[in-house]
Amino acid sequence: MDGWIEPVRRINSRGGHAPHLSLRFDSHLFSIDTSRSPKACVQPDAYLITHAHSDHYGKSAMLSPRAIASVETARALEIRYNHKYQGRTFRVGESIMVDEVEIKTHPTGHTIGSAAYSWETETGGRVLVTGDVKDYQAFPRTDYLVSEANYGDPYDPSCIFQDDLAGFSEALESGASFGAYAFGKAQRAVALMRAMGYRDEIGMDEKSLILTRELMQSAAGPLTEVNGGGSNVVSPWNLYQVHGKNKYFLTGRRDTSYPTIQLSDHLDFRGLMKMMEHVSPKEVLVYHPEGERASLLAHYLQECGLETMSLDMIEKFVR
Ligand SMILES: [Zn+2]
Repeated sequence: MDGWIEPVRRINSRGGHAPHLSLRFDSHLFSIDTSRSPKACVQPDAYLITHAHSDHYGKSAMLSPRAIASVETARALEIRYNHKYQGRTFRVGESIMVDEVEIKTHPTGHTIGSAAYSWETETGGRVLVTGDVKDYQAFPRTDYLVSEANYGDPYDPSCIFQDDLAGFSEALESGASFGAYAFGKAQRAVALMRAMGYRDEIGMDEKSLILTRELMQSAAGPLTEVNGGGSNVVSPWNLYQVHGKNKYFLTGRRDTSYPTIQLSDHLDFRGLMKMMEHVSPKEVLVYHPEGERASLLAHYLQECGLETMSLDMIEKFVR
């Protein structure tokens, strides 16, 4: 089965490579979480966008009719970047066809609308591309895994963590407000607050409010502007606008001036290892984020006996 799938990188107009990668198999080329190819260059059959965070390049790929994203991801991209999404959409859990290839989609629990993609090649090889992951339970087994490594450094203690739900609940009961990035973390915070029984209006800054209203709809409960209700969920840099002193930044970072509560949109290192077991791949490509974390995770998996590479090891380029 060797060589049935080939990771390649696209050379962009400035001579460097485009972000992330493309996968070549049978007569197809699928691009993953990358920017649009310039008109004169090789065009992939599809741009698979896993979610609407900026480091996955939907801002650029959304302008191609070959873009593929979930309904929620497409909408989030439109709100975030003020462009009309030009591609095709699916509901997470449904399949979408690209030519004769059926691409299955799976929730990852990372953001609203985030999706992993899986498909089979003509020879029956199974491929799974994760995007960023909080929950891998819906993932199928695979032969070839393209995985994230946001907390993939086996030697960094900050890559081992647990969400501090007790701390969050305690802060909420004490009337605290929270700093959370407008797309992803803010909706996680609102969902948790509602799950913990909080019924009052939640104050939000403009982008967070629009995104949360549109993406969560009635599940968000009553929302209002900053300081217009009880607790607030605002972008970290707007926390200063929130009245009172009882404020927390929802993050795993340590370099903040506000007290923090650990609440992550990602699997930690142990979670990534459990995901490996769950999907039990024969071969792994660690693709995100670019840099040391991916290389270290690739090295670690290689040491564990799993054939693994990282983006910097891809030697084929297309232009
Ligand atoms: Zn992300």
